[in-house]
Amino acid sequence: MYHGPEDVRVEDVPRPETENPGDALVRVIHTAVCGSDLWPYRGHSDRDTPSRNTPSRIGHEPMGIIEEVGEDVWSVQPGDRVFVPFVVSCGECEFCRRGLHTSCVNGDSWSGDNGGAQGKYVRSPHADGTLVRIPDRYDDDEETLRAALPLTDVLGTGHYADRLDVAEAFGATDTVLGGEGGVDDEAERVRDLTHGGAEHVLECVSATSAMETAVGACRPSETVGYVGVPHGTGDGLDLFDFFGDNITLAGGVAPVHAYADDPLADVLGGTLDPSPVFTKTVSLEDVDEGYRAMDEREAVKVLVEP
Ligand SMILES: [Zn+2]
Ligand SMILES: [Zn+2]
Repeated sequence: MYHGPEDVRVEDVPRPETENPGDALVRVIHTAVCGSDLWPYRGHSDRDTPSRNTPSRIGHEPMGIIEEVGEDVWSVQPGDRVFVPFVVSCGECEFCRRGLHTSCVNGDSWSGDNGGAQGKYVRSPHADGTLVRIPDRYDDDEETLRAALPLTDVLGTGHYADRLDVAEAFGATDTVLGGEGGVDDEAERVRDLTHGGAEHVLECVSATSAMETAVGACRPSETVGYVGVPHGTGDGLDLFDFFGDNITLAGGVAPVHAYADDPLADVLGGTLDPSPVFTKTVSLEDVDEGYRAMDEREAVKVLVEP
């Protein structure tokens, strides 16, 4: 439960219940702390900041086992293991059909009566459009299950710049460190390394300074993609840098459900392993320690075991 800045507690709350015929109840087996959970934790976010008297359920990256389904649910049944994208989607509206599940007109989130994903149970409305089944044969394959967990929210993989060792483990040939102990001008260093700028730049923090670095590192006429939750861009973005070099800005919230097929198949097939992003594992009882470790950058991303 999120009580306020730097105050996350484990408490007993009513178990979410299936209410509508399309609902499913999922017992959470794996879950995680997301970089975006740190905004309210640090008191930087207006969203999810209740008064001390009305704490809110938090967490949105669960995987688990179906415990109950409503009568209309056809794609999963009790006992099935599922991967739960970070937003609810109906699977049937205009945007779901186009693969943009995050704009679902019937969308919903993991909070309130649906339960927070840093907890023991979540209720999934629109279970057929939301949940993605993981075949039974992976039930005892803890390594593969952990590798699948980061796919619940690809946003979670890009919140920090000081994860260069992780980048190298994933195969980065060159890394550039800015800030304290790093180079003065990261964008210039990238332009040097790439002889004029990178053709594709991913901006994963969405703070103004990070966007400035991204556009500075981008090759003229190429593209900056952004996937982080925009934050701290209150003074606006200077479009002149984009204008001057004909740089395209593209991106937005990642419709994780649409990616479930390919990357999940790669993870289950053993050719993709994003699990090194988890550098710390905590029990649900110790979830506050997970937040602290991410806040103080001792951990890149924290896996939580309810
Ligand atoms: Zn997340
Ligand atoms: Zn929809």
